[in-house]
Amino acid sequence: MKIDTRLVQVGVGWDEKTGAISMPIYQSATFRHPALGQSTGFDYSRTGNPTRQVLEDSMAELDGGSRGFAFASGMAAITAILMLFSPGDHLVVSDDLYGGTYRVLEQVFRRFGLKASYVDTSDLKKVEEAIEEKTKALFIETPTNPLLKITDISRGASLAQRYNLLTIVDNTFMTPYLQKPLELGADIVVYSATKYLGGHNDLVGGIVVVKNEELAEKMFFIQNSCGMILGPQDCWLLLRGLKTLGVRMDRHQQNALEIARWLKEHPLVEKVYYPGLPEHPGYELCLRQAAGWGGMLSFTVKDAGRVEKILSRLKIISFAESLGGVESLITYPVTQTHADIPEEMRLRAGVTDKLLRLSVGLEAADDLIEDLSQAME
Ligand SMILES: *Cc1c(COP(=O)(O)O)cnc(C)c1O
Repeated sequence: MKIDTRLVQVGVGWDEKTGAISMPIYQSATFRHPALGQSTGFDYSRTGNPTRQVLEDSMAELDGGSRGFAFASGMAAITAILMLFSPGDHLVVSDDLYGGTYRVLEQVFRRFGLKASYVDTSDLKKVEEAIEEKTKALFIETPTNPLLKITDISRGASLAQRYNLLTIVDNTFMTPYLQKPLELGADIVVYSATKYLGGHNDLVGGIVVVKNEELAEKMFFIQNSCGMILGPQDCWLLLRGLKTLGVRMDRHQQNALEIARWLKEHPLVEKVYYPGLPEHPGYELCLRQAAGWGGMLSFTVKDAGRVEKILSRLKIISFAESLGGVESLITYPVTQTHADIPEEMRLRAGVTDKLLRLSVGLEAADDLIEDLSQAME
């Protein structure tokens, strides 16, 4: 079955009793036991909830993993993954990284003795050089945020395997519709479901999918013990979002490509970062390991002094954090998503005060181009 069909059909047929097409929201904290020593399969909603279960099963199936887990946010999902490790363990992590992942590693988990090195994972030589005796995992974001650098997932995972490391991929920008890290050799895939999976800028959530039963047991233990679960209402919203993921991603991508081509020709624009442009260094690799390039692009303007004017003049595109929703959003990574990353590391990665990041929405591409055009006049 094609992924388009699977997406649309999530949750259908689960509720046999009523035949509900839309998976019901089981807003119940606890479940009655039929008799002593018996269970309906649900006892208490931190441990398991029917609406969450359908979402988790659907995500496991979409990503080709053994089990899925829904969390209260993308950061809760990443936190749960980091709890797999112990004091003294070390991780090799992509340097051009979501700021919140850097923050939780450096300001929370470092206090508990977990260490990380940040390298350009699109260069696997650098990854190998960063591996230490206590390294336990390779954490990849691809494409990276905000510079859309592409890491070879299958070569990265093979390298990790050689050193007995887990490979973890933050697949938020691509979604299983465009890229399936577990099939490329990764062990764990993580999403901020707040972004494309939900897709409507109306919920905060996170998803983890693991490849094998052993990891599934460990993740379930952490999810149930620490309790950072996604509530049934938000699970339902996410199930609804998933149904249109395919059509949304197609349109996000089509719009992004059009805008990237237009920006490239604009006299005020210095550089466009979009993996769907043939001159992008990750273009070929992206074609090989993914079914597309997604809807995120970044660009630099020649003069940083222009940024404020552009942001204030935009009418359709909102100046707001986040990404992956139907509405187009623009961010200024230096003061927003990447504010917690030290300047020296930011600049090394190329996140300068001239850089803007665009989450291309589902509006008509012509209108978005018109909006950018008047803002950049
Ligand atoms: C937003 C985001 C996160 C964090 O997710 P939240 O849902 O905001 O907690 C993690 N990784 C990436 C790539 C993101 O874009």
